[in-house]
This record gives sequence, structure tokens and C-alpha cells, in this order.
Amino acid sequence: MQKKSPSPSGSGSPQSAGHVHSHPKHYCGVFGIYGHPNAAELTYYGLYQLQHRGQESAGIVSTDGRQFYVHRGMGLVPNIFNGEVLHTLIGSSAIGHTRYSTTGSSNLVNAQPLTVDCGKGKIAIGHNGNLTNAAALREELESRGSIFQTTVDSEIIVHLLALPAGSGGHESTLINAVRRIEGAYSLVILTENELIGVRDPHGFRPLSIGRMSNGAFVLASETCAFDLIQAEFIRDVEPGEIVIIDTNGLRSVQAFPEHTRRAFCIFEYVYFARPDSNISNRNVYRVRVDMGRQLAREHRIEADIVVPVPDSGNCAALGYSLESGIPFEMAFVRNHYVGRSFLQPSQFIRDFNVRVKLNLIGDLVRGKRVIIVDDSIVRGTTSKARVTSLKEAGAKEVHVLVSCPPHMNPCVYGIDFPERSKLMAATNTHEEIRRFLNADSLGYLSLDGMVAATGHPRNSFCLACYDGQYPVAFDPLMDKHIMERRRARGGGLGLELAAESRHQRLL
Ligand code: SF4
Repeated sequence: MQKKSPSPSGSGSPQSAGHVHSHPKHYCGVFGIYGHPNAAELTYYGLYQLQHRGQESAGIVSTDGRQFYVHRGMGLVPNIFNGEVLHTLIGSSAIGHTRYSTTGSSNLVNAQPLTVDCGKGKIAIGHNGNLTNAAALREELESRGSIFQTTVDSEIIVHLLALPAGSGGHESTLINAVRRIEGAYSLVILTENELIGVRDPHGFRPLSIGRMSNGAFVLASETCAFDLIQAEFIRDVEPGEIVIIDTNGLRSVQAFPEHTRRAFCIFEYVYFARPDSNISNRNVYRVRVDMGRQLAREHRIEADIVVPVPDSGNCAALGYSLESGIPFEMAFVRNHYVGRSFLQPSQFIRDFNVRVKLNLIGDLVRGKRVIIVDDSIVRGTTSKARVTSLKEAGAKEVHVLVSCPPHMNPCVYGIDFPERSKLMAATNTHEEIRRFLNADSLGYLSLDGMVAATGHPRNSFCLACYDGQYPVAFDPLMDKHIMERRRARGGGLGLELAAESRHQRLL
């Protein structure tokens, strides 16, 4: 498959951006535990810690070595599970999943972990990431008789795992399955007697191994899940590694050549991961503070105070303040109880939706030269609202700084960025953006500065949303809802893709 640019550049303008969400959405969080009498309860707490990675649905599958016990629901973890439900999730092993839909709609059928009862026994799977060859694989599997229940790409992995084992047995089926899928995936897989963790050969998404004091093994998307359940961090699952945990302990299988290009998602450090997590031996909080320090070295501004856009800009603003000596003030106060708004999105309502999340302490900024620090400007509308409220409160100057470079391209590896035409930096000049924000100045952290703050080499990262260099080729017609569109029209995928190509050409 050829490398293609993700979508035709559009002609969107800042003024046309009317959405309320200021940040790309998270994708998913996965958790697994093997060998603990309270497996379901611990999975529940693990998911609680991973809630930031997905808020649309969640699920837990447990096993006592004979049966699977399953509960999935829509919404937040504490709304889906209670003591009664957790009591029904029997057994000493379990996996769990929190979901934000990156492929397939948000509904209960698509909630994970997915389960199957096949010739090999029972298999459950939780997936974080996006498969870039999902459409072609699904077409192939369906032509061979596979019947799909959902519209998520993760089900393809279940079907590949359920294929009859060749002469190499169970382990070789697993290796063959992961060698067929492409893109980003960190997986937890549960069978009646094993917990398995898999990370794609590029290592796009994090996955770590921990251990409880009773010897139980734990897998989690982020190490913050270990802290709550008092598991000790052992190590990260390596890119391309399969870890198989059973009564004999943990064994490791390398399913790919070791020289595969690493491509960890740098936006995990910038925004997605929790600051109390450690990724690739670096604490996310410290990396973000270093990004702020670097920002101060690259953009020296005469100002009176540095203000973060909470919570995502907190660490970088602190770093800027420490490096520059300019006092740090929490002038924006976040309302933690804002849920989704169901009011009709008129411009009048949108303005309230943007303002309801953050309230400004006007006294702190009146007559001051203010620097505000955020982790990204995607569509620009919320940043503009922050500048407006600062100026309305009497700030003398407002300088906007961003702790990463401009986002120029969408993500095809599991982050729900808007299409290119809605990315402000992709369709406007630096000066146009500054004027739209009504800021006195605008500055971004450089690509080199961002990478340097992580302490890892540049070639260990995916930077595609910044530099357009996609480390894994992808199908340019694949998007979040392709499975549903295809099902609705009842045509073959080949027909679907051909029709969309024609449509694109017509445009
Ligand atoms: S394109 Fe951006 S958001 Fe997507 S995986 Fe790469 S660095 Fe992360």
C-alpha cells in the first residue's frame, strides 16, 4: 500500500471552526490481571485510573478457568459497575477496557472487551489503537466465512486468533495473527488459562507490566493504574513483544524483527497520558515541565505572570515559570463537573459551553501582561475564548504559548484528530492564527525542542501529526465509520472503496 496524505487539504478558516472540543479525543485504556482472588475489583480500580483514555464505554471479562463472566456498559466506569455487578465477575484473572471510539460507532455492541467462544476455547480481547489495514483484512475474513458482530477493527484480531491452529499450535496462531495486522495496537487478551499482552512492533501505544505483592501479574496502558492497586512496576512491554502469563509465570516472545522502526506516539507525553504515569522510563509530569522550560528558552517574553490553561497546560506553564522566573498564577479555575452538553449547538450556546469549563479570577490578571500556556491548539475556538476573557478582565497583553509544534495533519493511529481542513495550523498562517486569537503574540515549541524534552531520540517517535511523516502506510479511505457505511449499503468493501474514490475524484 502506498503512503498517502490523509485527506485533501481543505479551505477551512478559523472563523468556520465551530466545535466545542478543544482537544483531540483519547482512544482507549486496557488493563489485565492474572492470579488474584479479587481480579474483577482490581480491574475496576485499574479502569478508574485509565478513565481519561476513554469515557464512552467500559467492560470487564473475568474467568475462573472454566467460564467467562462479562459485563459491559455505556458511560463512565463507576456508573457501569457496582458491588453487585463485580460480585458476578468471578475468577482470579480478568481484563478490562475503557473506550473512546476511534473505529466504529459508540454503542454497546462495540464496547470492549470483545469475547468469542470458538474451537480454541474462549477468547476475550481489549484493544488500544487503530489498525491501518482493517478494511482489507475484514474483507478477506468475510470472504472466508467469518461473521462479524461489531463494526470495530478490534474484532478482526479476535477472528484471526480464532482461525484453526497450524502445526505450530496456539503460540504460532498468536504470532501469525499479530503479523497480519498493521498500525497501532496494544492488546490484552484473556483465555481460560492465560493472560496475554501484545504491543505492535512500532510501539505506538504504551503497555506496562506490574506485579502485586501476592505474585499476580498486571498489565496496564499506563503505570498510574499500578499505583492505586499497589502493584510494583516491572517494565514496559517492548514494541513487537508478546508476553504470555500463566501458572508458569511470564514468558516473552518476540514476534517481529528487532530492527523495526520505533514510533511511540509523542502526543502521549504532550497531552494524553496522565502526568503521574511513567512511559519509557520517564515521568510524564517531568517531561511536560521540561517542555515548558524549553518553551521559555525558545520564546523569551516580557510578562508579569504565566497562567496555565488547566489541566492540560499546568505542567508546561510551571516549567516556563521556573525557567523564566516569571510568577506562576492559576488564574483559570476549572469546573470539574461539566459533562456533555445536549443543548442545540447554536453560536449563543457554544459560547457558554466554552466558558463553562473555565472561570477566570479577574483580579489576578487586571492590568498585567499575561502569558497563557496550553498543550495544543487544534481548532482554535477555545484558545480564542481564553484570550477574550483575559482581555475582558483587563489584561494589558495576552501572549499565547503552546507546548508542542503546530498540528498540521490528522492521526491515523487511534487519536481522533479532526480532518486536515479543520486543523487551524494546516489552513492558516501563523499571523492569521494570532490575529484570530486576538493575541499579542503566539509561539509554539519547536519539534526539536519537544523531542529533546522527552530525553529520547527523535527516531523513536511517531511525529506524523506534526511533520506528515507517517511511519506505517495506511489506507487513505479508512476512517472511523467505514464499517458502518459499508454495512448500510450492503455492498462489498471493494465496491465501497471504489465508490468513495470516485466521489473524491469528483470533489
Ligand atoms: S500522528 Fe500524532 S497523535 Fe497520531 S500516533 Fe503519531 S504522534 Fe501520536
